[in-house]
Amino acid sequence: MGKVFPDPVGSAPASEHRPRGRDVGRVLVLNATYEPVHVCSVRRAAVLLLKEKAEIVEHGSWELRSEHTQLPRPVVIRLVTFVLVPRDPRRRRITRRAVFARDGWSCQYCGSRSSLTVDHVIPRSKGGDSSWENIVASCAPCNRRKADRLPAQVGMHPRRAPRLPSPNVFIAVATPTIPAAWRPWLPLDVDVAA
Ligand SMILES: [Zn+2]
Repeated sequence: MGKVFPDPVGSAPASEHRPRGRDVGRVLVLNATYEPVHVCSVRRAAVLLLKEKAEIVEHGSWELRSEHTQLPRPVVIRLVTFVLVPRDPRRRRITRRAVFARDGWSCQYCGSRSSLTVDHVIPRSKGGDSSWENIVASCAPCNRRKADRLPAQVGMHPRRAPRLPSPNVFIAVATPTIPAAWRPWLPLDVDVAA
């Protein structure tokens, strides 16, 4: 497994026509129910397709070839069997990009979209934890102004109470750009700005 197709990113024959772009190697994976589950590599998608664990929903204009088989380049695939996705984002790693995506790439104190950092609403020195419910996107100036104080002490409250992100946030975070062919399959709340 894994040797079925060469990874088309960077190793495809020079003569092969294929689109260029940073998202070229990513495939959107839908559950059997057509809900987006995650993003995987083309190679992984090819393995799932050849083992008939997935089917192609959207494909690109070029093909993956190996000695014995050829396959349209998968863009969106659907798992044949329903998989139970861990819906609890509490178990997913908190990254800056995921926090920014959840918060619409804007400072939760002033709305600025530049110099984003993350801020602990209740500072760690005051007992705040590093949970989704205590971390917000904050621009650097707001972060400095708030410093090590409680929201009430400085009169700075997040515009939206920080909450667990929807699973779709991780799809937006997993790939630098969302290919147009994915859009029909993604809920509207996926913020693709980077
Ligand atoms: Zn700000």
